[in-house]
Amino acid sequence: MPVQGLGPYDDTNIFARILRGEIPCRKVFENDHALAFHDINPQAPTHVLVIPKGRYVSAADFAALASDAEIAGLMRAAGHVARMLGLDAPGWRMLTNMGEHAGQEVPHFHLHVFAGAPLGPMLARG
Ligand code: 5GP
Repeated sequence: MPVQGLGPYDDTNIFARILRGEIPCRKVFENDHALAFHDINPQAPTHVLVIPKGRYVSAADFAALASDAEIAGLMRAAGHVARMLGLDAPGWRMLTNMGEHAGQEVPHFHLHVFAGAPLGPMLARG
């Protein structure tokens, strides 16, 4: 069971369907515990999503319940994506939205990797 906030894991969510191969994605990288693919509606010149293969609703759920190997696998996948795409020198941003106030839309935990241009302030003001 997830820890709080978003309810039980929904196996029909769009990222679960991508993981099962029911919906295509533009894959960037995959390891035993994570899949990385381009966001369908990019918010920066490079916008990659890095998701665990396990059934985790949110960052809170993943942090509390994922194994050390799953946590390492996800973080190493994000780092690998950045290196593969040559993002380290110009720089990149990693972000996750958790729950209602953050505007999380897809209830399968994901990291956003943004890059390719100056990304502006961390949060929109006002
Ligand atoms: P959230 O708002 O939950 O943090 O981010 C969800 C992200 O998933 C959004 O940036 C959205 O564009 C992306 N997304 C939603 N549906 C799909 C899809 O079917 N394929 C891909 N590649 N990205 C999707």
